[in-house]
Amino acid sequence: MTQLKSLRGMVDLLPDALQRWQAVEAVAREHFRRSGFGEIRTPMLETTELFCRGIGEATDVVGKEMYTFQDRGDRSCTLRPEGTASVVRAALEHGLLSQGPQRLWYCGPMFRYERPQAGRQRQFHQIGVEWLGAASPRSDVEVIALAWDLLAQLGVGGLELELNSLGSVEDRQAYRSALVGWLQDRRDALDDDSRSRLESNPLRILDSKNLDTQGLLESAPRLIDALGSESRERFEHVQQGLQALGIPFRLNPRLVRGLDYYGHTAFEITSDQLGAQATVCGGGRYNGLVEQLGGPATPAIGWALGLERLILVLESAASQDPGGLAARLTASQVPDLFVVNRGEQAEAAALGLVRSLRLAGLSVDLDGSGAGFAKQFKRADRSGARWVLVLGDDEACRGEVRLKPLQTEGEERCLPLGDHRAVVQALMDP
Ligand code: ATP
Ligand code: MG
Repeated sequence: MTQLKSLRGMVDLLPDALQRWQAVEAVAREHFRRSGFGEIRTPMLETTELFCRGIGEATDVVGKEMYTFQDRGDRSCTLRPEGTASVVRAALEHGLLSQGPQRLWYCGPMFRYERPQAGRQRQFHQIGVEWLGAASPRSDVEVIALAWDLLAQLGVGGLELELNSLGSVEDRQAYRSALVGWLQDRRDALDDDSRSRLESNPLRILDSKNLDTQGLLESAPRLIDALGSESRERFEHVQQGLQALGIPFRLNPRLVRGLDYYGHTAFEITSDQLGAQATVCGGGRYNGLVEQLGGPATPAIGWALGLERLILVLESAASQDPGGLAARLTASQVPDLFVVNRGEQAEAAALGLVRSLRLAGLSVDLDGSGAGFAKQFKRADRSGARWVLVLGDDEACRGEVRLKPLQTEGEERCLPLGDHRAVVQALMDP
């Protein structure tokens, strides 16, 4: 029979890798707690309409990347391709906005039917924040700092913050016509994808990965020059706020976001370690979305970072600086204690002791193989445990266990078998 495999672009996460994931998630969780953001968990499956209305029909995500199907009740369902629309839907459904601004964060799998490659999967994971009811340029600065500081706390360097303003709806409308006019005159020089976007979503052409198109766009009219005075002033405030916090950034007038709901501040954090899939984190302001989904007009801003890409950056930081923060965070966990045990009586006693030690807070590996002592000792060494506890029938008869340090020189000690506290004490106070 042929071996069954996971679907293309859907990746298993195994215990070794998950240690790194959990370390990142723990840092993020603590960072959000300190920053006054509460966690929200929404379903992975939503009505297709939510994303069509929320993200926009003309985007790549809705147009060609969604996992959409009819369920048994003939409803059109979609596996969420991103988190923002769901968070806004949930906030509206539960009346959260009537309680004032909402500072929310989420973490979980997202689904997009894309061509899988390094840093690009069909099921991938995002950590993200949404601040609903945040209007001032200062909130843009706080939210960007939230992402920047999270990455700093993980010890990843080589990051660049790119910033742009997409202006107001009116600014974009005016710019859209100017850009389309300019591009129409150069239609023949555009790649196929960009040509088809000319009608559907011309701003996205600015984000084209085609090198010829990129060259052509060097001299295209710039959105930043088309901003009205209010938008321009707002953007100035955001930049000054970032400067005041000492967060470096680069203005990128071609930065547009893939989802239609963005306006004013847009930003991405990129890494020089990721090759083509360089963007670790992307976000911006989406003042129209809440209303578009049937709620009251509510300014909002948020971001999402890709966990797979973040882990890649973290791993490369760890290998470049083995003593650094990233390396310490990603170091594999070793048990406090490895228990070598052999013989009927010894194995029964070991199980009871191990249980008490685990309940007392120690991480303990119990060798359950019944193999010879030499084999079990080899495994103890390989486990990286700091201590080994030895229990054979001889020891069990005497009511003793032997405790030996594994990673350091040190005396072996005999401790009473019936008293797990003696073992805990010995480990804490060697
Ligand atoms: P890209 O241009 O790389 O496709 P995007 O603009 O579509 O990114 P967003 O919708 O802004 O991405 O999602 C935020 C982050 O989620 C990205 O910066 C990236 O780190 C991550 N991400 C997006 N799509 C994928 C994917 N298919 N696989 C892995 N990570 C992804
Ligand atoms: Mg994409």
